[in-house]
Amino acid sequence: MSDASTQARVAASARRDAGIAPSAAATLPVTRAMFDELMVPIYAPAPFVPVRGEGSRVWDQGGKMYIDFAAGVAVTSLGHCHPALVCALTEQAHTLWHVSNWFTNEPALRLARRLVEHTFAERVFFCNSGAEANEAALKLARRYAHDRFGPQKIRVISTLNSFHGRTLFTVTAGGQAKYASGFGPNPEGITHIPYNDVAALEAQFAQAGGEICAVLLEPMQGEGGMTPGTPAFLQAARRLCTAHGALLILDEIQSGMGRTGTLFSYMQKGIVPDLLTSAKGLAGGFPIGALLTTNDIASVFGVGVHGTTFGGNPLACAVGGAAFDVINTTEVLDGVKARHALFMEGLKAINARRQVFADLRGEGVWIGCELATPWKGKSMDVVRAAGDAGLMLLVAGPDVVRIAPSLVISLDEILEGLARLEKALDQALQ
Ligand SMILES: *Cc1c(COP(=O)(O)O)cnc(C)c1O
Repeated sequence: MSDASTQARVAASARRDAGIAPSAAATLPVTRAMFDELMVPIYAPAPFVPVRGEGSRVWDQGGKMYIDFAAGVAVTSLGHCHPALVCALTEQAHTLWHVSNWFTNEPALRLARRLVEHTFAERVFFCNSGAEANEAALKLARRYAHDRFGPQKIRVISTLNSFHGRTLFTVTAGGQAKYASGFGPNPEGITHIPYNDVAALEAQFAQAGGEICAVLLEPMQGEGGMTPGTPAFLQAARRLCTAHGALLILDEIQSGMGRTGTLFSYMQKGIVPDLLTSAKGLAGGFPIGALLTTNDIASVFGVGVHGTTFGGNPLACAVGGAAFDVINTTEVLDGVKARHALFMEGLKAINARRQVFADLRGEGVWIGCELATPWKGKSMDVVRAAGDAGLMLLVAGPDVVRIAPSLVISLDEILEGLARLEKALDQALQ
């Protein structure tokens, strides 16, 4: 009997011992068809409903097993129901759930200490998602420029094809017009330049450096197609921000917390940001977001200037602390690099047999497989066929299949998943 299902059985028996029947809501029969009837139709979920996960395996309502190469969307970074996270969550659930930010709490302070100890940062703001972390970063950058330089310094430079979340400010900062239009007036003062275009970035600063308050970048564009930032571009952003009193905001919501083989990706890029945002893997699947920054920058966010009801809640922070201590070890981080090599080797072998990929790229357990010319636009077909073959997979735009599994996925699961991927490629593309 596995660890995860043992723990689920223990929880059910504790409930019975306490004389508490499962609620009627917890036992309602449900089907995938109910999604189409009940939910706001902004998603088109797979035809199966996952009900249980353990490590990098997931089972659906019919008992079919899937290898998980998606981890949510790069979220369940330690796999499903990792024992250390389950223990942290259940212990905290028996201790204290919520007190509001009119009080502080122990798990939040512990996680903040960890983040400050192991990054450039001196201050942390907790929230509940990536979009909220970026929203806070953009507001803080605007406020810093306003207080230190005056009201003209409001411009944000972002990049085409980037993704930063779905609030109106962050979706406008993201460089994909299809997500940002049709919602009335967008926030002003955001300029998009091509990613990795050093000359375009220099031109913006040469034109109006005094008006630029921030540059917002992903170290590698995830949603936009798994495009790595070049060292020259990232370093130019750092240099120009410093020279013009603008803040460099690195969106490490997808790249951070070990995914590329270091705690955060900036640690391999020769730059240090002024603000860094984290979410997704930060608590291994429990909702949380964080903004990291320095004492000087944080000082313009005085009492009452920003806030959130749930940010920094004890449950999320307790799980985040446990996830941090598992991830931030040489064992796990070196393991990510070893898994990268194994994935690339397996993907190259598939490509030698099938010639379906034009490019294989990425870092750590964060890999983009760009489809070759005859199959451009078909990444979603591959993901659907993968579901049939028992593999959870992601797209990064229409041309790129994205692999973002748990950082600790087993070698057997990698090999089995790659075999299923090859089957899916055959079904979708041949
Ligand atoms: C997922 C993601 C976000 C948005 O995070 P949410 O938790 O969905 O709000 C922002 N930036 C990047 C780079 C992401 O990958």
